[in-house]
Amino acid sequence: MRKKIVAGNWKMNLNYEEGQKLTSEIVNMYKDENIKDVTVVLNPPFVHLFPVKKLIGNTPNLFLGSQNCSEKAAGAYTGETSASMLKSFGAEYVILGHSERREYFKESNELLTAKVRQALDYGLTPIFCCGEPLEIREAGTHEAYVKNQLTESLFGLSAEDFAKIVIAYEPIWAIGTGKTASSDQAQEMHKALREHLASKFGQEAADHTSILYGGSCNPGNAKDLFSKADVDGGLIGGASLKSRDFMDIIKSF
Ligand code: PEP
Repeated sequence: MRKKIVAGNWKMNLNYEEGQKLTSEIVNMYKDENIKDVTVVLNPPFVHLFPVKKLIGNTPNLFLGSQNCSEKAAGAYTGETSASMLKSFGAEYVILGHSERREYFKESNELLTAKVRQALDYGLTPIFCCGEPLEIREAGTHEAYVKNQLTESLFGLSAEDFAKIVIAYEPIWAIGTGKTASSDQAQEMHKALREHLASKFGQEAADHTSILYGGSCNPGNAKDLFSKADVDGGLIGGASLKSRDFMDIIKSF
């Protein structure tokens, strides 16, 4: 059985009070509504991590994650945050390779290999993002493009390390645009990516890897997306900033 996961990516949103309010609402609803069998991860900006962790406490299946980590372990890297710091402040997950990091901060597949290494070395679970831009989708080469992202960043991992990875397929044309991939498009890609992972790490390992969908997922389309055989949950941007919407997505399995 694969883990079902819903992870919220707050991106660069919310001040301290807003972050506390949102987290309290989610924690309370999560407990009241008796959520079972879904791993939920909140990924706020760095400055929110510690206060958000305090509110999450030891709520079962509700975890803290960050949106990035440094590729370096420690040292004179002003402005950076290491995987070991994140772990020590209570994070269990880290989003790596989000398309916004790839595009605006020029994160390459090679750099992401180093970030994945840091995350794994310090006990964080990487949520490794991949996905194609619109022109690649329109050219029909999206499968090869995304497979290459996985090959270049992850295929050097040992089987033991690979077993700790979560994948998030996020077509860039669907992120923050309100334009979701259809559930059939998502399933087609997730299946192809799982086959690609199986070609390197074996069928059993690939069958145990959670592959999340991201891109304008909302309470209205989550059920359809999550009903697909190879869609194991979602990475949620905009809708993770509204507690009710986020909870309704969590309850869509
Ligand atoms: C994301 O940022 O990973 C994302 C999927 O955003 P949105 O849900 O807003 O499209």
